[in-house]
Amino acid sequence: MALRGSEVAGEDARRSNRARQLQREGLPSGGYGPKPHGTLKILTTVAAARRFRRSTSSRLVLVPTMGALHEGHAALIRRAKQVAGKAGSVVVSIFVNPTQFGPKEDLSRYPRPIAEDQRLCRELGVDAIFHPSAKEMYAADFSTWVQESAVSSGLCGATRPGHFRGVCTVVLKLFTIVQPDDAVFGLKDYQQCAVIARMVRDLDLPVRLTFAPTVREPDGLARSSRNVFLSPEERAQAPSLRVALLAAKAAFHAGTTSAAKLKQIARRKISRDAKLDYLEVAAAGTLTPTRIAQPGDTMALAAFFGKTRLIDNIQLR
Ligand code: AMP
Repeated sequence: MALRGSEVAGEDARRSNRARQLQREGLPSGGYGPKPHGTLKILTTVAAARRFRRSTSSRLVLVPTMGALHEGHAALIRRAKQVAGKAGSVVVSIFVNPTQFGPKEDLSRYPRPIAEDQRLCRELGVDAIFHPSAKEMYAADFSTWVQESAVSSGLCGATRPGHFRGVCTVVLKLFTIVQPDDAVFGLKDYQQCAVIARMVRDLDLPVRLTFAPTVREPDGLARSSRNVFLSPEERAQAPSLRVALLAAKAAFHAGTTSAAKLKQIARRKISRDAKLDYLEVAAAGTLTPTRIAQPGDTMALAAFFGKTRLIDNIQLR
């Protein structure tokens, strides 16, 4: 699966029709004239987000996050600003989505530094933050779910049952609430990108997806909101995940195609104190485990350092 930014067919044509119509009506269309830069708006209700969408006729780009923003999120926001262009708007959603956490996972301890998040968004020139409460997003008797049933079945989907059902449901809700033209996701969550791309295709959602590369610490550890939970010892061991993936990739380039062998090479590099959740070579397109690695496949892993679960992946090209 080439997850380098996918397009929803027909969207460009629809967008330029809309631009022509706005011109006929004498309204500014995306791309015409500079947008006056206002202050960061904080939207906490569905109604406020809808009002914001109605107030802007230009291209709107959504960056969905769970907050505790770091350089990885900042890169997505910068990418979103490029996609939006001068006249467009960027909305960052900050919502720790309870339905994507399992009963024994870290929902209650997930960091929520909202004041710092707002500061970063302001610095980056974000137009609005959508920061709803769980009650605003989920009625007490909420009972409608979106379930992707192929790409989401392995890897994180296998070890976190219900996770992608929660992700798809909340992302679809965010799409219908914020009504973006585009949305930006990070390839650090590779399977999530693949699942959302499938959902967008299958449900004909009029949102164009952009996928941005993983931002790392200088020692190779993927930036994550969960890194703050690592003890100094665990933090020192965590870059072994990246070392392992690079070793497997080097072996693949040198001619090793057996997935079992590649996994063995990677496993040997992972710190002994880590508890491996999964380590797989996933086939491009389906993300199902493969026995013989092909160019374009992904090696993906999840591992616990203490109670902290980290994920990472690498493309075998
Ligand atoms: P999260 O807040 O962890 O749910 O992540 C929100 C978005 O940021 C998702 O699309 C993630 O894939 C993306 N993201 C998180 N960490 C990184 C990173 N280190 N590099 C690039 N994107 C990231």
